[in-house]
Order: sequence, then structure tokens, then C-alpha cells
Amino acid sequence: MQRRAALFLLACIPFFTACAIIPISKSSSPPPPFPSAGGGKVGSSVTVKRAQFLMGTLVELTAVAPGDVIAQAALTAGFQEIRRLENMLSTWIETSELSRINQAAGLEPIGVSAETFDLLRRALEVAEYTEGGFNIAIGPAVRLWNIPEAPRIPSAMELEIAAQYVDYRRIHLDQTRRTVFLEKPGMRIDIGGIGKGFAAEKAAAVMRENGAKGGLVAVAGDFRVFGRRADGTAWPLGIQHPREPGKVLAMLDVTDEAVSTSGDYERYFLKDGVRYHHILDPQTLQPARLCQSVTIIAPDATTADALATGVFVMGPARGMALVERLGLGAVIVDAQGMVIVSSRLRDRVTLSP
Ligand code: ADP
Ligand code: MG
Repeated sequence: MQRRAALFLLACIPFFTACAIIPISKSSSPPPPFPSAGGGKVGSSVTVKRAQFLMGTLVELTAVAPGDVIAQAALTAGFQEIRRLENMLSTWIETSELSRINQAAGLEPIGVSAETFDLLRRALEVAEYTEGGFNIAIGPAVRLWNIPEAPRIPSAMELEIAAQYVDYRRIHLDQTRRTVFLEKPGMRIDIGGIGKGFAAEKAAAVMRENGAKGGLVAVAGDFRVFGRRADGTAWPLGIQHPREPGKVLAMLDVTDEAVSTSGDYERYFLKDGVRYHHILDPQTLQPARLCQSVTIIAPDATTADALATGVFVMGPARGMALVERLGLGAVIVDAQGMVIVSSRLRDRVTLSP
């Protein structure tokens, strides 16, 4: 099963590279403060980049460090961290903490690591402030739709049954005993909307601990950036156009921030001219219809990832109001293709003509 998914995703990599955010080499950027030595070395810093297939997707890590040995060690530690988290959190792995929680739904609370507990606590927090738009109890509905593996529209009856198991308030976290309990048998946590951001955040911290002065962690459409590039400049990122593959919709420079995009163009199928994609509205259990893409800029990647999914469901009006209230940044493309930029980002984002 796991292998089938991996192969499918591998086959889709050219498609996914069109994923949400594209690191850009800018020709128009100001001259770097250090002489450019070309290749991976500028001044006294080197830049090393490696990619691996982890968490069912392409993970790309870039490290800037005083020397090649340190940069390579930081990358190796970063990949190891993501693999460790995958073993802890993947529902493809039967022994993972998350699988054990799901297997024990309706039966008993499961003791978990501080990290898993923290991730679930954060997920439930985001569920509250997105008014249930972000909902990790969505698992049974995600399984029914099974996008993109088996494109099929579930029947109204199937969705009605699934609706009985997607109430995130029935996920009980016990802080003192550090346990997680799903109240009803049949409930199922899905961390697809927050797990990659969580992993990106942790990997960036580990790379820094291992000597990287700057770095970029890209787990599909979830980006965490720290420090600066070898030439001292910020990291330019491009946001993918949701309807024109390979075209950049907007650009912005980032340092010490996370950028996550959720879109309806990454995993979807078309039937009778209707697009069915992988971000579900927990109210209807149908694909959310109010946006084409949502990019969130936040201090940490866990928040950025979860909020991108949640704001996508909330739609441009309520979603942007939330982003403004939280003091974060967002670029939202609404259902008609109109681009809306939050107040904090207006001076930072350059929209493509
Ligand atoms: P991607 O996984 O493509 O980066 P997202 O971060 O938006 O995109 O996560 C989408 C995934 O989150 C889905 O594949 C599914 O596993 C899960 N999901 C779907 N709808 C919701 C929702 N309303 N709230 C939380 N998670 C969701
Ligand atoms: Mg997300």
C-alpha cells in the first residue's frame, strides 16, 4: 500500500514540481555584498543542496555553512530528522504513534511522545481559530475520496456516514498523562494538512543546531527558511500560479519565516468539468470551493501549513480577516482567480504581470 502511493507520487514528480512554491534565482536582485565565486561557494560560505523522497513527497534541503563538511552534516541531520518524524507520525506506518492512536479509536487513550502531543495540540488550536475549517478529524472523509489514488465521487450516503466521525472536539488530549483518545470507533486523525510544516520546522532547527548559518527546507509546498543565502541576501520564493503550470503568480523575499501554500491544483481529478481536489470542507465533506490557492507566511511552518489549509476552507473573506487578526501574511487566489494580498505583505509581494 505504502509502496503504491510512493510510486504514484514518484510518477507525478514533474507535476508536483509545479507545486506551490518555487525557489527562484533572481537576475534582478541587488548585487550581493560578497564577491560571487559561482558554484556553491561565495566568500567564506558554501551552499549545498540535496533532495530525498520522504513523507510521500520530494524533500529538498539547502544549507549555507562555513564549509562543505558542516553543510553536508547539517543536511544529513535534517533528512534524518524528517525520517524520524515520518516514523512517528505517518499513517502508512502501522507502528507509528499516530497509527496507534487511530487503531485505538473508541477503545483507549494512547500515550504519546511530547512532540506528537504538541503537534496535535497545535492542530486543535488551529481548528478553533479557523472555526473548524482546519480539522484533523477529517480522516474518514479523506479516505472515502482517496484523492488522487482512486478518483471517485463518494455517494451522499457514504458522506453522511463519514460525517458522524469527523468532529475534532471528540479528540481528547490529556496533558497530565500525555495521552490521546478518539472518542468514537471509526474516527481517524489525518495530519496531511499540518505534518509537512511540522517536519519542515523541526528539520530547520536541527540543521541550525548542526552548524548551518542559513537554510531552506522545502517539503512539497511547505517552506521554512532561516538565516540568509551565502551572498547575504534573503531567499526569493515564487508562488505558483494555480491555473498556469510553471508560471509564477507572485514573488517575495523571506528570511527566518515559513511559507506554505495549499492549492486545488496539486491533487485533483476532473469529472464532468468539475474539479475535485484534496482539501475538504468539513461542513460538507466536499472539496472546498472558495479558493484556488492560499499562501500563508508565518513565523513557523507548523502554523503556516495548518492555516493555509484552514484558510482555504474558510474562503477569502473570513480567511483574510483571520490572517489580519493574527498579524500574519497571506496571498489568496479566490475561486474566480482574483489575487488578494494581506496588509502586511503588500510592500513585500511582487505580483507577476
Ligand atoms: P498538501 O498536502 O498538498 O501540502 P495541505 O497542506 O492543504 O496540502 O493538506 C491537504 C491534506 O490535508 C489533504 O490531503 C488531507 O490529507 C488533509 N485535509 C483535507 N481537508 C482538510 C481539512 N479541512 N482540515 C485539515 N486537513 C485536511
Ligand atoms: Mg496545510
